[in-house]
Amino acid sequence: MNKLDGKIVLITGSSRGIGRAIAQKFASEGARIAINYTKNKQAADDLKQELKGSEIFKADVSIHDDVKKMVSDIHERMGKIDILVNNAGIFDLFSWNEFDDERLKRTFDINLMGQIYTAKECMEDLKERHGIIINMASNAGVGTSANNTTFYSISKAGVAMLTKRLAFDLMDFNVRVNAIAPGWIESDMTIGNKTQNEIFQLQKLFKSRTELGMTGKPEYIADAALFLATDDSRYMNGQIIVIDGGRIDNLTHSI
Ligand code: NAP
Repeated sequence: MNKLDGKIVLITGSSRGIGRAIAQKFASEGARIAINYTKNKQAADDLKQELKGSEIFKADVSIHDDVKKMVSDIHERMGKIDILVNNAGIFDLFSWNEFDDERLKRTFDINLMGQIYTAKECMEDLKERHGIIINMASNAGVGTSANNTTFYSISKAGVAMLTKRLAFDLMDFNVRVNAIAPGWIESDMTIGNKTQNEIFQLQKLFKSRTELGMTGKPEYIADAALFLATDDSRYMNGQIIVIDGGRIDNLTHSI
């Protein structure tokens, strides 16, 4: 008996990185994964080959109509959704001096509105199935000192409050909602398009910034996501779990 046998799980942004690792972990526990991507079809195709019973859905989570269509296509091809992992996100770093309306809007539209739209469109399924939502926040959204992350951090602080509000708003339906706030995790977001030497320098820097002297891997986040997706976390709701190796430069006082 696997932990997620028979569950249908939508993971936004699961073609690569953290979402992909969660998809692999959940599938290894018997879940069928609705793989979502927006640009990288090859990566999504490769993952579908790997994960039995999975299906692919192209949708830009920042476009409400795309999300509506994705959920309706999931109903047609897979059935109703038991677990939503709101994971898709971008990390566009710019300071007040480089202020840019378009970049700001895109950050908020994908990182925050995308999670709101997807939660809204999955809500009826989750109420009916007494489902689970896991939102991907960030340590930058609960801490204050990483450089140039002001706007990304605000979008992720929104995700933290979205998590608490959804947990409250859905409490009568036995839907649990929690979030993970990762620290520096090695994925395309942080080390894609970098040379080996640049990656080594980044690893050295972020190791020195954690109490554990480690950098993060997508699998560490997937392990926590599995905990949140099962009865192992039955007494948790509306919480944001920070998984960052014990960052010493980005204070993450509980909120
Ligand atoms: P990543 O390696 O860049 O992967 C991003 C994923 O999101 C890809 O599957 C991408 O799809 C998808 N995506 C991007 N924009 C999308 C959109 N508009 N609609 C649908 N899908 C979209 O990123 P990651 O490191 O795995 O990050 C995953 C989540 O964790 C994000 O929310 C991020 O903010 C959060 N996080 C990451 C870190 C870190 O250090 N990596 C730390 C804290 C929080 P395509 O393949 O089609 O482009």
